[in-house]
Amino acid sequence: MAEPIVDYSRPKGTRDILPPESQRWRGLVGVFADVVQAAGYGYVVPPIFEHVEVFHRLGEATDVVAKEMYEFTDRGGRRLALRPEQTASVVRMFVENRPAVPWKVWYAGPNFRAENVQKGRYRQFDQVGIEVLGVDDPYLDVEVIALAWRFYERLGLTQVRLVLNSLGAAGDRGRYADALRDYFGSHVDALSSESRETLARNPLRVLDSKRGNDRDIVAGAPRLRDYLSPDAAAHFETVQDGLRALAIPFDVDDRLVRGLDYYRNTTFEFAADALDAAQNAIGGGGRYDGLVEEMGGPPTAGIGFALGVDRTLLACDAESAFGAPLAGVDVFVVDTTGGRHALSLTDELWRAGIRADRAYENRSMKAQMKVADRSGAAVALIVGGDEAEAGLVTLRPLRRRDGETATQRQIARADVIDELKRTL
Ligand code: AMP
Repeated sequence: MAEPIVDYSRPKGTRDILPPESQRWRGLVGVFADVVQAAGYGYVVPPIFEHVEVFHRLGEATDVVAKEMYEFTDRGGRRLALRPEQTASVVRMFVENRPAVPWKVWYAGPNFRAENVQKGRYRQFDQVGIEVLGVDDPYLDVEVIALAWRFYERLGLTQVRLVLNSLGAAGDRGRYADALRDYFGSHVDALSSESRETLARNPLRVLDSKRGNDRDIVAGAPRLRDYLSPDAAAHFETVQDGLRALAIPFDVDDRLVRGLDYYRNTTFEFAADALDAAQNAIGGGGRYDGLVEEMGGPPTAGIGFALGVDRTLLACDAESAFGAPLAGVDVFVVDTTGGRHALSLTDELWRAGIRADRAYENRSMKAQMKVADRSGAAVALIVGGDEAEAGLVTLRPLRRRDGETATQRQIARADVIDELKRTL
């Protein structure tokens, strides 16, 4: 019998994020947290898997749900799915926990979609995002969009483009979908086979088609703006006014329909112009009035966005923005007496809030100093036989500033923390 193939490599579409990139990753989430927490958003941690029905509420016709979900049956026979996005979970949390409105929350974490993998498109990818439930005020739409914009600004990105659209109220969208069905139906022979298939599921998605002939047909399709009710049109006007008031530039594109079925009224996307068109969508969101009801809650307005962490960092690379922070430590402890001194010294340093590392295995002074140099620390604390006997520690500067000669000195073991706090 053939041996089963043992594969210890990571699954297709997943990534290993190592230092220093991982530090940058955490830094990005930290910046996001600063921006949204300053605006009153609280952190939520939804489960990574849910009952599959929760995601079906996003619309069985959406690609994410119909084609890309990682579904499985657990040992108790329950149908579960790894979350393909987090809005559905946040809405489910809202319905289950009934917090007071307005409920303003943010999240960060991985999602799973069985995608065709390419650069910037993974099967496990991270998003940061916010959701607000219980407020139907166009100025909230502006706030939400502005928070994403300020976040990109804080990262140092300058080539982000905001594209905006309104999908109208539920009825508007339905009427528009009917009009599209009629229009594309009368051109069905000229459409690509993919678009014909999409048409049957969701005519709005045909507008997204980039295939040669489809584009010409799409160009002549009915325009969504002609199907907006007066209320929806007024809402959209106010959103645009608000963005102008905050000096946030935007383009209106009424072909922007976005992947998920639940969007209503305002929808938006952020494109990074420094990236190739295939992966330049770095974030998006919109209103999803109606989703709470779909999950058994009271009628509740909702709006939010999700920004792709992986892709936002690619955009940062392309703009040379938000570099990896200098990781590592400030102090490196070298102990050639066996390691006990290094053990207690590092513990003391850590407790005093000083970043420190050490060498192991009682190697030679030369070998330990090599590791100290590589660590990026500013000073080495050296304990050799003489120091140990005299109750001293040698403090040796490691990174020399220009023109300065690094002089080492000995200090009393008991003064180490105070001395470092003064000099670091
Ligand atoms: P969506 O939830 O589809 O609206 O996506 C929001 C953002 O998440 C996108 O703009 C991308 O930046 C990111 N994103 C979505 N799918 C993927 C994926 N498969 N790999 C990496 N990033 C993704």
